[in-house]
Amino acid sequence: MTSTRSLCPYCGVGCGLEVLPDQGKVRGDRAHPSNQGMVCVKGATVYEALDRDRLLYPQFRETLAQPFRRISWDEALTRLVEQVQTVRETQGPAGLCMYGSGQLQTEDYYVAQKLLKGCLGSNNFDTNSRLCMSSAVAAYTQSFGSDGPPCCYADLDETDCAFLIGTNTAECHPVLFNRLRRHHKAHPQVKLVVVDPRCTPTAAVADLHLAIRPGTDIDLLHGIAHLLLAWESVDRAFLASSTTGFDAFREVVSHYPPETTAGRCGIPVDDLRRAATYWRDSHRVLSLWSMGINQSAEGTAKARSIINLHLLTGQIGKPGAGPFSLTGQPNAMGGREAGGLSHLLPGYRQIANPEHRAEVEQHWGLPAGRISPHPGRHAWAMIEGLEQGEVGLLWIVATNPLVSLPDLNRVQRALGQSPFTVVQDAYFPTETTDFAHLLLPAGQWGEKTGTMTNSERVVTLSQAFRPPPGEARADWEIFAEVGRRLGYLPQFAYPAAAAVFAEFVALTAGRTCDMSGLSHGLLANQGPQPWPYRSIGKRLSGEPQRLYSTGRFPTPDGKARFCTRHSRGLVEPPDPSYPFVLTVGRLYGHWHTQTRTGRIPKLQQMSPKPLLDIHPRDAQTLGIATGDWVEVSSRRGQIRVQAHVTQSTSPGTVFLPMHWGALWAEAAAGNTLTHPVSDPDSHQPELKACAVTIEVLSAAVQSPQCPSRAALRTGDLQESDLPSASVTRRFQGSPVAKHLR
Ligand code: SF4
Repeated sequence: MTSTRSLCPYCGVGCGLEVLPDQGKVRGDRAHPSNQGMVCVKGATVYEALDRDRLLYPQFRETLAQPFRRISWDEALTRLVEQVQTVRETQGPAGLCMYGSGQLQTEDYYVAQKLLKGCLGSNNFDTNSRLCMSSAVAAYTQSFGSDGPPCCYADLDETDCAFLIGTNTAECHPVLFNRLRRHHKAHPQVKLVVVDPRCTPTAAVADLHLAIRPGTDIDLLHGIAHLLLAWESVDRAFLASSTTGFDAFREVVSHYPPETTAGRCGIPVDDLRRAATYWRDSHRVLSLWSMGINQSAEGTAKARSIINLHLLTGQIGKPGAGPFSLTGQPNAMGGREAGGLSHLLPGYRQIANPEHRAEVEQHWGLPAGRISPHPGRHAWAMIEGLEQGEVGLLWIVATNPLVSLPDLNRVQRALGQSPFTVVQDAYFPTETTDFAHLLLPAGQWGEKTGTMTNSERVVTLSQAFRPPPGEARADWEIFAEVGRRLGYLPQFAYPAAAAVFAEFVALTAGRTCDMSGLSHGLLANQGPQPWPYRSIGKRLSGEPQRLYSTGRFPTPDGKARFCTRHSRGLVEPPDPSYPFVLTVGRLYGHWHTQTRTGRIPKLQQMSPKPLLDIHPRDAQTLGIATGDWVEVSSRRGQIRVQAHVTQSTSPGTVFLPMHWGALWAEAAAGNTLTHPVSDPDSHQPELKACAVTIEVLSAAVQSPQCPSRAALRTGDLQESDLPSASVTRRFQGSPVAKHLR
């Protein structure tokens, strides 16, 4: 029996997988340091999606009204290159945009940066990571002087107090949560604090659940700081040696006394004091956060306010402590390292820094000044560029923005007027392929060899175990071929992905994310490795996994900076016309827009349809019972879903999973309702909160056709694969525990 070492292509936990191609299945890789053999139901079933609804060959159409016709790769690349050249001549490089994904491997990311930012002179490369963790990137960079989570998963086993805020870890990072729970259960003195407006499966097992009002995270964090200062429970030596801005911070938090803060947050003042007491009494506090913090118009300030508490108490750079952002996607971290956001260059470099641009230009063999000094368009700015006629080519890779971006009606209108949209993906159809002119088939997990970095900075080589189906190609190979056809032969003469990786890691030498000692060969022979991993002469050296254990930070003065921003609250608070706050999120059995998980019957059956969670008090006021169809409206659109009356959400707040686009349910996409106002530093939209109103639908519209039948168009799903009509109650029992292996 042969097996191949690989990496789960879903979430940022980055679980190692052992693939058994002969048996068509996977199991957890016991040798992988990050998961030690554990997998959740998504990882365990990933093999089942490999041959469903694959995009097998290039297709083209002149207009969106026409059907696609099959074309050759040569014709596809010729058309693409001609459009690139036309846009460069008529609109300049700024008319070229690529929107990628945390699903891409680091090699894919790197070659795309070289093509767009280097050879074509357009910094308009952004990814769906913009929607996921760009606020964490901005927060780390502003507070510490560099991106990079300081912690590692071993800290989960060593903490005295896990402070989880804005993260439903049990459903979104299940293997990680299971590890934390083991530690929590085995050590009764260890505290688990969960801050979330909803009683999620994560919050349900907490010692303290703070169900704060949406948008009051900074109030809470400043309120805790206020108490710690009042109690003099701060690390004065660390403050003096390793931080700046403390006096201004103390002045800010003086405005958050306990009673006022608890009132704003909607929690008992005793609970606020208890949270602060846990911070005070714990030697090692580990904060975890994800999209509940990042997806906010003040996401950067929220994340920095978490970091503030660690600076105040010196809880950083030591076992079991630190501010730890969990990435959503399998290679969101690798994307950051390779420069995969519109303001970044490889090696945690900044577009705006002339020295950084010069270093990269030299490495790429390009003339000085080729890289534009201006950050490119971030995700939403690409939509605005389409609206204004400033984008002549939009190239979408391995992502599904027609479900995941906010204000979907506006996104559809913008894509509808795109002059030329390329969608490069492994699957067809997706909601986004409906808006493509050119389709390029891509190889996916298991069909290309490359690296990914998980949330704890561990780099894993994910080995191919089968060729791509049909005419599909690895993403980096497609980018390189386009580069060669544009005349950049030396820049894209890679014989294999290993050569791409070697060129990339050389560019990280001396940076915070130094991985210059890594290679495909080393990772294949010695297994996954955390960075930093330097090459010093001939000697390779791995280093301790925690950053900043010396108390020195990569800022000009070596000190971390306090954030001194006040809470601003929600961009769109509820009002008499839209009296509820809608928050969107994820379910254990699905991944993002269901491009894979929607095609796996077992996962479909776990969560067959989107349900709107509403508190019993609100349901009674509106006359809603579980199973009733309701129309949910915001200032941007309406959706129709069934209600689920549950105490898991707070009065005034309703919850909807974000996984269902038009392919899987009719008029149920949560992001039809959300707004695109974003954080001024990270440009991450406030997907987590918008104001809505709710109406019970009349009998005449209570039975829309089963929308998943749209998937039958592809001929791959069978009738028996379709979800049953019964409403599942997701929080009955413990689905997470049941499916963890
Ligand atoms: S926890 Fe995340 S990385 Fe691990 S198996 Fe599940 S989805 Fe995959």
